[in-house]
Amino acid sequence: MKVSSYDQIFIGGSWQRPSSAERIEVISPYTEQPIAHVPAGSGADIERAVLAARDAFDNGPWPRLAVAERIDAVERLAAIYAEHIDEMADLITAQMGSPASFSRLGQAAGAATLMRLAVQTARSFPWNERRRGTLGEVHLRRVPVGVVGIIIPWNVPQNLLMPKLIPALVAGCTVIVKPAPETPLDSLWVAEMVEKAGLPDGVVSVVPGGREAGDALVRHPGVDKIAFTGSSATGRHIASVCGEQLKRYSLELGGKSAAIVLDDARIDKTVAGLKMASLMNNGQACVAQTRILVSERRHDELVDGLADMMSSLVIGDPADPVTEVGPLVSQRQQHRVQSYIRTGIDEGAKLVVGGDDSPRERGWFVRPTLFVDATNDMAIARDEIFGPVLTVIKYRDEDDAVRIANDSDYGLAGSVWTKDVARGLDISGRVRTGTYGINMYMLDIASPFGGFKQSGIGREFGEEGLAEYTELQTVVSAGTLPALATDGEHAQD
Ligand code: NAD
Repeated sequence: MKVSSYDQIFIGGSWQRPSSAERIEVISPYTEQPIAHVPAGSGADIERAVLAARDAFDNGPWPRLAVAERIDAVERLAAIYAEHIDEMADLITAQMGSPASFSRLGQAAGAATLMRLAVQTARSFPWNERRRGTLGEVHLRRVPVGVVGIIIPWNVPQNLLMPKLIPALVAGCTVIVKPAPETPLDSLWVAEMVEKAGLPDGVVSVVPGGREAGDALVRHPGVDKIAFTGSSATGRHIASVCGEQLKRYSLELGGKSAAIVLDDARIDKTVAGLKMASLMNNGQACVAQTRILVSERRHDELVDGLADMMSSLVIGDPADPVTEVGPLVSQRQQHRVQSYIRTGIDEGAKLVVGGDDSPRERGWFVRPTLFVDATNDMAIARDEIFGPVLTVIKYRDEDDAVRIANDSDYGLAGSVWTKDVARGLDISGRVRTGTYGINMYMLDIASPFGGFKQSGIGREFGEEGLAEYTELQTVVSAGTLPALATDGEHAQD
């Protein structure tokens, strides 16, 4: 497995010495031992990276290449990446404790597919188009948004990096990536791959660091856009700083999604579906279905099914392929989730499975925990817990179920479980969320993904995801415009 320490930072196309001696220790959530260290990037390192990206954007070849040429370069990067999917998955597991089975399919292979899909989207994207305006024919041109700062969290690091990095690159942007301090190694490995793929200098920089480095990137006037995934609290802060500078931003934030189990649902299939939809990645998923809404009529049957499923989950070494629940990313996160379990008990919800004690002496594990007799005003129903903790809430009728689902600050995902798909589709139209599942919940990584309400602004994946990295220019002409070049080679004129 590739677990390497780094003493240098990838800035502007070369490995450079960091401006300070400060280091980030990457700690295994399973052994609680350091596995590697990297430089902690500072404001001065961000400054160098932004200057390199700015110069590459303003004066370098990258934004001026034909789209097809950028696609060739990105495909070289994707080919290098594709050779290392399993090793990348193992590295992610080592850093943040995601079970190997999820890391392989849900993390590293998913990221490789995202790279391919983004390239496919770029091939058919309307970089140039003509429309009839009030003054005659109008030329519309989609140009790169500029220098992009990418800030991502640790939970699915590659799946959050690729839907930003690849659309930004094919659009002609230059990029500074600031990974989370918990998971800097996978992004630095991508920097090695960028170097190998031969992308021009300054097009990609990777500066590991924490809040200070992230804040320096957000505040830097040389950055045109911030693409952020993380908590709603940080997203709010970033939006306010960007707002002052009228800097573009897209935000993928938190969630507290409701799974509505209708009276006609097959309980066995619902429980099997919720195992992944609610507990994937040790519950550290923004789209996790953590509020389970059910009527009195099916309540006990559902709770029995969920309790059986949750109490039989295999907890253990995340590198072991049979493990279903690994440790949480950090001790801070373990304590935070355990404190929510105590809060649930204090608020009067009933604990059916799990608890706030640690199931193992070593490793930042939390017991898969199921609450019943909960109401939607409790903290365990309102806050994003980001661990394997589910809360069952009773509804009176379908309208009440929809009301409870919508009674949330978030609006990222949701699901309905029913034998009647048409009824499920009708329910989906009444719930204010960016994505929805009928008898399943998964991301469709070829289709737009993003949040309503405090779950975010903007979309990732597909054409909408690529459009986030472009500005739209409108050209009117007193004379007849020449015919529009349609082949990819001339996609940007
Ligand atoms: P976080 O907001 O604390 O950190 C995310 C990133 O932002 C990290 O790289 C961090 O170093 C950086 N950061 C922190 N403070 C900053 C600041 N003031 N300025 C600039 N950068 C700053 O999030 P977290 O707790 O590490 O991650 C989990 C959160 O991410 C959850 O809320 C989860 O729902 C969300 N998430 C959302 C999606 C989505 O697509 N909607 C996907 C995955 C995770």
